[in-house]
Amino acid sequence: NDNQKKLGFAIVGLGKFAQEQMMPSFKDCKHARITALVSGSPDKAQKLAAEYGVEAKNIYSYDNFDSIKDNPAVDVVYIVLPVGLHAEYTVRAAKAGKHVLTEKPMANTPEDCQKMIEACKKANVKLMVAYRAQYEPFNLDAIARIRKGELGKVMQITADHGRIVDPTGDKADTWRIQKKLAGGGSLMDLGIYSLNAARYLTGEEPVEVTALEMSDKADPRFKEVEDRIHFTLRFPSGILATCTSSYSTEGVKRYRVFGQKAWLDLDPATDYYEHKMTIGDKDGQQQPKIKEGNQFAAEVDHMAECVLQNKTPKTPGEEGLKDIRLIMAIYEAARTGKKVKV
Ligand code: NDP
Repeated sequence: NDNQKKLGFAIVGLGKFAQEQMMPSFKDCKHARITALVSGSPDKAQKLAAEYGVEAKNIYSYDNFDSIKDNPAVDVVYIVLPVGLHAEYTVRAAKAGKHVLTEKPMANTPEDCQKMIEACKKANVKLMVAYRAQYEPFNLDAIARIRKGELGKVMQITADHGRIVDPTGDKADTWRIQKKLAGGGSLMDLGIYSLNAARYLTGEEPVEVTALEMSDKADPRFKEVEDRIHFTLRFPSGILATCTSSYSTEGVKRYRVFGQKAWLDLDPATDYYEHKMTIGDKDGQQQPKIKEGNQFAAEVDHMAECVLQNKTPKTPGEEGLKDIRLIMAIYEAARTGKKVKV
């Protein structure tokens, strides 16, 4: 049966994103299915195992997680834990001989990213970072139009991402305001979408960054992590990108690419299920018809295909490391008030 040919995924960390977006999306996957769960909450794990048809013997705790090495039903470990735990679980999964898909941002520091890359290389397993936007139809269409020259020569990009972080209302925001578990504030969690988009839209790597940060230190949410950060990237071809990231403004997830002939706007650009593209020039505006797709399933299937065909993922560990290095440069620029060469 077809199900037997699908690769088995172990979901590590059964939180909001895993339960609400990723696990339900496996039904749309051609090459992947959920075969194991790893959780610190046995009751929740049992309930979800029953719902997803995962055998009780394939439920792990964080303590016995390493014994997953003896489980042939698991090919890939998918890490959906707070950011500060991605490195530890990636290294442990690699040592267990399992391929790794990890959520964004990859890890708290470039050093942790390096450790993850090295551990997976040593174990000869694949490592992919879950940059869902790079598997999403509207974003892929935008990239294709830019590469074909539809906008003329690209000159500048603006990209904005924000949402109100509220640990009193949303349990998933508790770790997001703790430096040790989140690595940083809005830049790590949301600004990374602006940053990653600026890189995939241009197809270039920035050479210089500037930044300003603004956080109300009297606000208990911003004792350890930043609220708002604005950053500018200079690319080798001369393209400038101005990006914003915020934990105190609601529902912002958009970008606009300005070419010499036309501009392209995606708003929302990085939503889960809803995207809108507008292209404009001096004569007017139009909204191209593009079909929505399940980016989560496309991303998981890509990981499975890379394992099945022994290919390097489109968003490997090195891609995650690049963003974390740039994020560190943005923090440095904000802290020192000086532009930072990268
Ligand atoms: P949640 O807090 O909802 O889920 C995290 C889960 O990790 C918890 O439910 C818990 O699961 C487990 N966990 C283990 N140790 C800890 C700890 N010390 N503190 C808190 N949780 C712990 O967060 P999210 O689901 O929002 O985020 C999880 C990951 O997914 C992050 O890396 C985040 O950046 C990423 N994410 C990605 C998105 C995207 O669009 N690509 C969107 C949202 C999040 P259990 O009880 O099973 O042990």
